[in-house]
Amino acid sequence: MGTLHEFRCPACGYEAQVSGGPAGGMRVLTETIHCKDCRVIDDVVVARSSGGRGPRRTSAEESRVPPCPKDASHDVSLWRAGGPCPRCGATMERGEHFIQWD
Ligand SMILES: [Zn+2]
Ligand SMILES: [Zn+2]
Repeated sequence: MGTLHEFRCPACGYEAQVSGGPAGGMRVLTETIHCKDCRVIDDVVVARSSGGRGPRRTSAEESRVPPCPKDASHDVSLWRAGGPCPRCGATMERGEHFIQWD
């Protein structure tokens, strides 16, 4: 089960709903990335279930930063809860709202 949190930047008002780290459900695993070219944080799918097994990653895949879904040449890093706003660099705050998915 994954959980999406609402993160908000207190300085510029940028908002995103992301898990804030690696998350997994029955069908997919996701990671939260910060794309410096798109100037967004977003969850991207890094593994899907196949052949009746749940989604899983090898340790090599876990240490790899997934590419930006818009353009693989973008400058991307992993983003974690408490990380910087992609627009202005201030620390994002976690809101009270969250959504659970499986
Ligand atoms: Zn900001
Ligand atoms: Zn991008």
